[in-house]
Amino acid sequence: MAEDCIFCRIVAGDIPGRTVTETDHALAFLDANPLAPGHTLVIPKEHYSRLNDVPGDEAAELFGAVHELAATVEEAVDADAVSIGINDGEAAGQEVPHTHVHLVPRFEGDGGGPFHAINPDSEQPSDAELDDIADAIREA
Ligand code: 5GP
Ligand code: ZN
Repeated sequence: MAEDCIFCRIVAGDIPGRTVTETDHALAFLDANPLAPGHTLVIPKEHYSRLNDVPGDEAAELFGAVHELAATVEEAVDADAVSIGINDGEAAGQEVPHTHVHLVPRFEGDGGGPFHAINPDSEQPSDAELDDIADAIREA
């Protein structure tokens, strides 16, 4: 548990969280400032700042919960779809430094955008640049 981490305090039961499901290593609870009814956060119970800090077996459990909840949450709030995402790092908008997956129920005509709304005016890379980027990722 990390000192002063709001999500660690929810895991510990020090502050209330509207838990919807849990496993040995993962906890899902409602977001306190929801972007839509049913906005749910899924976290590892241990404190890890970034997704890559989560050990593989705990990440598998985390995403197992996400996989199950995607349909369950959508059905529970009678949504049409779900946006699932992680703000992984401060530059991506991460505010709580305990990694978490957002499940945001989506409704026809809700006015929210797709992930492409993150940077709609990004410059399109050339084929050569795409090849270089793919090489860099493969080599890493
Ligand atoms: P981030 O920007 O780090 O990806 O998202 C943090 C999320 O945590 C936000 O959607 C915010 O509403 C939620 N949040 C912040 N503090 C609390 C809290 O004390 N309880 C709950 N349930 N959610 C919180
Ligand atoms: Zn924490």
